[in-house]
Amino acid sequence: MPGMLRLLLLAAAAYLIYRGVRSLLRPTDRLTGKPKDPLDRVGTPLVQCAECGQFIPEPEAIRASVGGQRRTFCSPECRAGDTRGKPDS
Ligand SMILES: [Zn+2]
Repeated sequence: MPGMLRLLLLAAAAYLIYRGVRSLLRPTDRLTGKPKDPLDRVGTPLVQCAECGQFIPEPEAIRASVGGQRRTFCSPECRAGDTRGKPDS
C-alpha cells in the first residue's frame, strides 16, 4: 500500500517539523530550563478520566469517591456526569 506509506512518512515529517518549531517558539524554556507546558513536564504521570477517557496530567486531575470507588476526572463536568450515574451499556 504505497499511499499509506507516503501518508506515514508525511505524518512523521510533520511531527518532526512541529517539534522543531515548538522548541524554537519557547525561548523562555531555555532560560529557566523548565517547560511552561504542564504536559511537557518529564515524569508527570497521566491518569485517565473515568467519564470521557481522556488522559490528563495527574496533578490536574479531579479526584472523587464514587460509590466507594476512587475515580479521577479531567473536569468538573465529567465528574458531575459520572456521579449522576448512567446505565451500563
Ligand atoms: Zn473527562
